[in-house]
Amino acid sequence: MEAAESTEVVIVGAGQSGIAASAHLTRLRIPHLVLEKADVADRWRHGRWDSLVANGPAWHDRFPTMEIPGVGPDEFATKDQMADYFGAFARSFDAPVRTGVEVLAVTRRESAPGFLVETSAGTIVAGSVIAATGPFQVPVAPRIISEDLVPHQIHSAAYRNPHQLPEGGVLVVGAGSSGAQIAEELRASGRQVHLSVGPHDRPPRSYRDRDFVWWLGALGKWDATAPDSDHVTIAVSGARGGHTVDFRELAAAGITLVGRTEASQDGTIRFADDLRRNITAGDANLLELLEEADAYVEANGLNLPEEPEAHELGDLPACVTDPVRSIDPRAAGITSIIWATGYAQDFTWLHVDAFDATGRPAHLRGVSTESGIYFLGLPWLSRRGSSFIWGTWHDAMHVADHIATRRRYAQYAPAEQGASTPTAGSAPSAASRPSTPAGTSAESSPTAPDQDILEEITR
Ligand SMILES: Cc1cc2nc3c(=O)[nH]c(=O)nc-3n(C[C@H](O)[C@H](O)[C@H](O)COP(=O)(O)OP(=O)(O)OC[C@H]3O[C@@H](n4cnc5c(N)ncnc54)[C@H](O)[C@@H]3O)c2cc1C
Repeated sequence: MEAAESTEVVIVGAGQSGIAASAHLTRLRIPHLVLEKADVADRWRHGRWDSLVANGPAWHDRFPTMEIPGVGPDEFATKDQMADYFGAFARSFDAPVRTGVEVLAVTRRESAPGFLVETSAGTIVAGSVIAATGPFQVPVAPRIISEDLVPHQIHSAAYRNPHQLPEGGVLVVGAGSSGAQIAEELRASGRQVHLSVGPHDRPPRSYRDRDFVWWLGALGKWDATAPDSDHVTIAVSGARGGHTVDFRELAAAGITLVGRTEASQDGTIRFADDLRRNITAGDANLLELLEEADAYVEANGLNLPEEPEAHELGDLPACVTDPVRSIDPRAAGITSIIWATGYAQDFTWLHVDAFDATGRPAHLRGVSTESGIYFLGLPWLSRRGSSFIWGTWHDAMHVADHIATRRRYAQYAPAEQGASTPTAGSAPSAASRPSTPAGTSAESSPTAPDQDILEEITR
């Protein structure tokens, strides 16, 4: 089945990665469409809990060319301010976004360049496809606790606020940024909370007058190209104006810390004997960063105020030195479990040769092994920063430049022959440019915005 409509590039997903890709393709005047099954930045708007704020301050967690309106540089934008921001950014250069259009399948065309993109609103031929469907797509939770034992179990992706949970205590499993923040919010609302703590890093929110995002940049850590072999989740929080995730403070507030949740057995939930190890390893990670920061200050002769008290972490709380190894949830009044255990990716719609033997995207900085297929927004796509807002911006620039280069090859013809017929990655003829449905921002040309805007959005 061939399509009536064609364009050079289809971007799947209008989160921050898809919008960044659209900005760079616009700068390069490459016709494209952004297809989004929900709405622009929908995961920020609807896929997170109510009180979530950005983990990084606004000067850092944004695209380089536009500030977040109404949010001071050292403040933390709410999830809705982030969603509004990406919507405003997309409108600022008239990004050709079609919302409410799900991409169902992408296949390579037979005996012709490019791909067939089957969507909920018809089929489109595209020279290239950028998969920008997110680093965190499918909630993952082990099914290890029987619902007979604890009837109400949800993933952190479904958590919104304490009121949605039935009366009673809560076991939060996972102490990365999501688990630690949710546990803290539940405790503040008056709930009894157990927090199951696995291996984690926990950087200081700030040190010597600089936020940790600054330190990660100054120390070159955002640019690390691959995780350490012992890479673990990171626990940070922008809530309440931003603060260090401190498990001693959480225990002092009445949260019972327990080790990794292992299984349920004979009416009890069993926890691993790893709590003390996990807490002290997180402490060591924090202290290591402070030492690296001190060395950096020294080496560069910076005038940043000393902060010796940051090195004093205090005694371990009793729940860590004498941990609970199993609990009867019914006796303890635990009525809910929140699994803050992360996400997987889902590329079942992408029927191309762009995956390795384990099913993971096979790519170099987002350029996949299948010519014309690209990925954006994946954790560690090119570096530690790749799944974050500013990181995906730079990855999108690289991917867009790669598409532009490929396009030049496709359009080349010896001078005496004139332009070649379009091939994969080349511009469709004017007649085959995207037809734009009424009511979408694609009504205006996706090709040639004002030069000032181009310079502004890509500065
Ligand atoms: C709880 C939480 C807090 C976070 N906080 C921060 C933070 O403070 N700072 C930061 O930099 N990062 C943060 N992140 C990480 C990251 O910034 C977000 O996950 C961000 O949403 C990723 O953007 P993205 O565009 O890559 O993907 P997404 O925002 O997930 O966007 C992908 C889009 O693709 C669409 N889509 C998926 N499949 C299809 C399909 N088949 N057809 C059409 N459309 C499709 C989805 O509807 C979605 O809108 C956080 C992540 C989580 C989970």
